[in-house]
Amino acid sequence: MDKILGTINGMDFTMGDSLLELSYLIAALLFVYGLKLLSHPATARRGNLWAAGGMGLAMITTLLLHKNAQGVGISLLNIWIILAFIGVGSVIGWIIARRVKMTAMPQLVSLFNASGGAASMLVALLEYPNAKAGDISSILVTVLGLIIGSIAFSGSMIAYGKLDGKVGDIKKPFMTYVNLLLLLVTLALGAYIVVSPNPPTDLIWAIYALMGISLVYGVMFVFPIGGADMPVVISLLNALTGVAAAMAGFIYGNQAMILGGILVGAAGMILTMLMCKAMNRSLLNVIIGSFGGGGAAGIEHEQGTIKEVQLSDAAVLLSYSQKIVIIPGYGLAVAQAQHIVHELDSLLEGKGIEVKYAIHPVAGRMPGHMNVLLAEADVPYEKLIEMDAINPDMPNVDVAIVIGANDVVNPAAYDDPSSPIYGMPIIDAHLAKNIIIMKRGMGKGYAGIENYLFFNDKTRMLFGDAKSSLQKLVNEIKSM
Ligand code: NDP
Repeated sequence: MDKILGTINGMDFTMGDSLLELSYLIAALLFVYGLKLLSHPATARRGNLWAAGGMGLAMITTLLLHKNAQGVGISLLNIWIILAFIGVGSVIGWIIARRVKMTAMPQLVSLFNASGGAASMLVALLEYPNAKAGDISSILVTVLGLIIGSIAFSGSMIAYGKLDGKVGDIKKPFMTYVNLLLLLVTLALGAYIVVSPNPPTDLIWAIYALMGISLVYGVMFVFPIGGADMPVVISLLNALTGVAAAMAGFIYGNQAMILGGILVGAAGMILTMLMCKAMNRSLLNVIIGSFGGGGAAGIEHEQGTIKEVQLSDAAVLLSYSQKIVIIPGYGLAVAQAQHIVHELDSLLEGKGIEVKYAIHPVAGRMPGHMNVLLAEADVPYEKLIEMDAINPDMPNVDVAIVIGANDVVNPAAYDDPSSPIYGMPIIDAHLAKNIIIMKRGMGKGYAGIENYLFFNDKTRMLFGDAKSSLQKLVNEIKSM
């Protein structure tokens, strides 16, 4: 089986080597196919399985066919150790994934990002002493893997803490300068390690210092980010994890790792750019790590009065409308009200009323959160209308029903320069002819600021858990 087929760079290339490379090619094709399927909720589950199959194939063939520079395969003992750790990791991953609540999914994604970053950081740290002095390209990928992996690890851990409400925003004006300084020191030390003629074994102190500074930078650049800007950071960290994995792939010369990492990095980067555009932010501000408005102070608004609506009045208003737009937000996910909202929408459509969903790019707690949630309840994808497409039509809408959304409909984004969400585009619920807002009380959104839409003359509040309010509303409309 291990017949020598030829020689490349003075090394024998065997049948096993070509099977290994072929399996990496197949794995890469499966990653690409999986990514394509992931781009639509209806096929996303299958996409995940195809991509995971590609990864499984690459792992099995690596264990069986990989050889080191001396042409020696992985020892049986090491294979058992690796399998044991894969087993332990898989069991832990399985348990966590089964137990995690839908609303805690963003935190889980952040933890996965952190693990990817940590893995690449450790690979770089362990492999650096094996690099040859003066071999600039291999030292460069090792240093990049270490910097990017460390930032992705510590930054994602802070992002996890923030999403879970364990870590608050720490935002001081001097932090921008500290972050810039840290970034410059990181780059300068990294450059020194790459160009230094000293053997890597003499620079172990520098590689540990680089890891430490990069870890601190990761923490410092995510700390000040709050308000409505977290989604950009989360997708950036995701992209960094992919790039760090690609660097680890370069260190080992492993095509599957390189391709997988580049695909994650590229997809994450595209998402980051889209999020920046959606949030009206520049990427440079994200990297320096201090943007958004000046905090929760806000300009003084006259707080009007809050008007509540009776269920029966809400049912009549909805039943005699022609055009209704549902604006879902994080509260819909908390209440797990996706099925009942679909029931309401079908009931109204049965009465000849046009019902659409307005999807804000950062509604919920992870990119695409509302799309996934509504897809779970089989809401037809064509009914989900992106913010830019629905906003021009909002003045013609009879009723905008805001369900568990807050920041994404807050007009402070337009008229309060001191607000942390200032400049962020919102769904123009305030332009609809009538607004019904469903939430439990006067609780604030993720950005922690007051929402003056609640005091708008056209607004009526329907207080209560979204699921039970929607159930009562459906019953009321049915009984009319
Ligand atoms: P918000 O976080 O602004 O508001 C959610 C609202 O839901 C709260 O005001 C709360 O009010 C209400 N709510 C909570 N539980 C329930 C329930 N059971 N029934 C009814 N209402 C409920 O959500 P949005 O979706 O409007 O905005 C998302 C925010 O999260 C943005 O600021 C965004 O930047 C940020 N973010 C988004 C990420 C992403 O990738 N999408 C990632 C990280 C942050 P009450 O307590 O009164 O019920």
